[in-house]
Amino acid sequence: MRLLAARKLTRLLSDRAEFNIPFSGLTTWKVGGPAWCLCRLHSREEAKAALAILADSGVPFMVLGNGSNLLVSDLGYEGAVLKLEGRLAALEVKNDLISAGGGVLLGQALRESAQAGLSGLEWAAAIPASLGGAIAMNAGSMGQNIGSVLERVDLLLSNGDVVTLERDSLPPFAYRKSNLPPASIVLGAKLKLRPGSAWSVRRNIAANTRLKRQRFPFNYPNAGSVFMNPEGDYAGRLIESAGLKGKRWGNAQISDVHGNFIVNMGAAKADDIYRLIVMARDTVKEKFGISLDLEIKLIGYVEPET
Ligand SMILES: Cc1cc2nc3c(=O)[nH]c(=O)nc-3n(C[C@H](O)[C@H](O)[C@H](O)COP(=O)(O)OP(=O)(O)OC[C@H]3O[C@@H](n4cnc5c(N)ncnc54)[C@H](O)[C@@H]3O)c2cc1C
Repeated sequence: MRLLAARKLTRLLSDRAEFNIPFSGLTTWKVGGPAWCLCRLHSREEAKAALAILADSGVPFMVLGNGSNLLVSDLGYEGAVLKLEGRLAALEVKNDLISAGGGVLLGQALRESAQAGLSGLEWAAAIPASLGGAIAMNAGSMGQNIGSVLERVDLLLSNGDVVTLERDSLPPFAYRKSNLPPASIVLGAKLKLRPGSAWSVRRNIAANTRLKRQRFPFNYPNAGSVFMNPEGDYAGRLIESAGLKGKRWGNAQISDVHGNFIVNMGAAKADDIYRLIVMARDTVKEKFGISLDLEIKLIGYVEPET
């Protein structure tokens, strides 16, 4: 079945179906073993057709955005990894609306919004996400999030249907959760911003970028915050109070700049990072009785229990 699926994917995508591709080149942590097949999808039709092939052959799939919140095991992923490119990564600005494919990087949306003098996305400065990933995770910063500027979302559901959810029919977004239908793919979205001045939008983006570069360890590969903040506290503060800042395992380190970041000091294994995640979670639970929930997504690992 796999061989047949491989043939069909190659017929559909030609050299945009690539086999045995390491996740270390696809994630911001720069770790992770090979994906069975990386499918670079350029249109909705291709996305639907690829999904049908995978469903027929029983091959599992996952969607990859910019890989900025993913820990994939050193053994890799025995399934298809769907990446949105081409028309699924195109962007258009019209009046106060940005229409973009799920594969567009937030950085590009931010640049285009600044050029058009549109305000409302400045908080996203220095977040290396794709729009689809940001929506799936309800990415946010500085008290704002992507959910609050969404006007509509186009989804490819696991049964192959494409549906459009307008603002009023979107599920309630929560802290780092979009509550979109399980296994749905964000093909594209419309963001509604506010008219402002290009100069002040650019100034705010630059100020937010500076602030984040001061606070977070951007000098080593990382995946942003590893844990969500528990009610009324900060995961980074708890990990620091537990004495774990700077703790190393192999070539990974709980950052000595911010306790909620784990950095790849060079050639770290995914397992090194996973060990530090388990250590941080267990130690915080033992010392403070607080269970930290993961913000990052794990592929090939079980969620550590405390
Ligand atoms: C330096 C740095 C700073 C960061 N700062 C922040 C921050 O301030 N705030 C914040 O919220 N996050 C931050 N992050 C984390 C990360 O950027 C966000 O979680 C982001 O939403 C992940 O987007 P992605 O495209 O990289 O998704 P990925 O990491 O590729 O995937 C994350 C999840 O989204 C799913 N997904 C991806 N694309 C789609 C799609 N098109 N349709 C459906 N599901 C999809 C994946 O299957 C996976 O489950 C930071 C990360 C880094 C490395």
